[in-house]
Amino acid sequence: MQELRGKIISEKIKEEIVQKISSNSSAGNYELAIIRIGDNKDQITYENSAIKKLSELGINVKTYTFDASISDAEFQKSFKQINDNDKVRGILLLKPLPKQIDEIALSRLIDEKKDLDGISPFNFHKVALGLDGNLPCTAKAVVEILKGYNITLSGKKVVIVNRSLVVGKSLAMLLLNEDATVTICHSKTANLKEITSSSDIVVFAIGRPKAFDDSFIKEGAVVIDVSINVDNEGKLCGDCDYESMLKKASAITPVPGGVGAVTTIILGKHFIQNI
Ligand code: NAP
Repeated sequence: MQELRGKIISEKIKEEIVQKISSNSSAGNYELAIIRIGDNKDQITYENSAIKKLSELGINVKTYTFDASISDAEFQKSFKQINDNDKVRGILLLKPLPKQIDEIALSRLIDEKKDLDGISPFNFHKVALGLDGNLPCTAKAVVEILKGYNITLSGKKVVIVNRSLVVGKSLAMLLLNEDATVTICHSKTANLKEITSSSDIVVFAIGRPKAFDDSFIKEGAVVIDVSINVDNEGKLCGDCDYESMLKKASAITPVPGGVGAVTTIILGKHFIQNI
């Protein structure tokens, strides 16, 4: 059984980033903008972690914060100014947004090259056409881990238990582009266990602590656990009962230390493509 450690993959990506930045004398002039509206604690935690990880690599990160009560028109004006600023080469808009903010309008406004977390429909369309485009970092992180550990995707049956845009739908398109045969499941899927236990690679992302044990996979399956949950004892855990999965899985991502360890670094990877 192989543990698919995110750190090993993120270290490789970090090297790419540092190399690109050190070989570009004007890199320091460019800015990665993190935009936050309001004071959501989870968003601030993510923001601080992203600032720390990306600054360490030499990326110039700047945060733009707005009051939670800002009007849609006012915010769009500021967003446009940031987006139009040539110094800004990457934008991360923290979500969820307050109700009054028109998310669809922003996703249409953002420059697709500066769109670090795949909110632009242009990026989605490009990937749907089989081209390279920035998709949500979590979905990209899953593919980076699978490819980084040389897990064959072509011709493999992959099931994703999640149909959100940031995870299931984006990941499905990336995996299709790697010639995998992809099934998406969700809360209304009938016979979930039958589908997961006949797949070569199973991606779990429902957000429920230890919801799946080894009866959900076949012998030798590769298991990717995307979720970050808190168990009854207050400890971080995924959707999988890790100990149980070890009995059958050929490889598995731990939580913490799996997908989450790669996600933030993908922001940096998307940023350096644009400097
Ligand atoms: P979400 O929008 O709530 O999506 C959850 C998905 O799981 C939905 O498609 C839902 O189906 C499905 N689902 C829920 N219960 C199910 C069940 N019993 N059987 C089958 N499917 C079920 O959440 P999300 O934003 O995609 O995030 C999912 C998880 O990923 C969360 O735990 C989050 O913390 C984690 N996450 C991790 C990272 C990372 O970097 N590792 C980043 C982002 C998110 P319906 O569509 O039918 O409701």
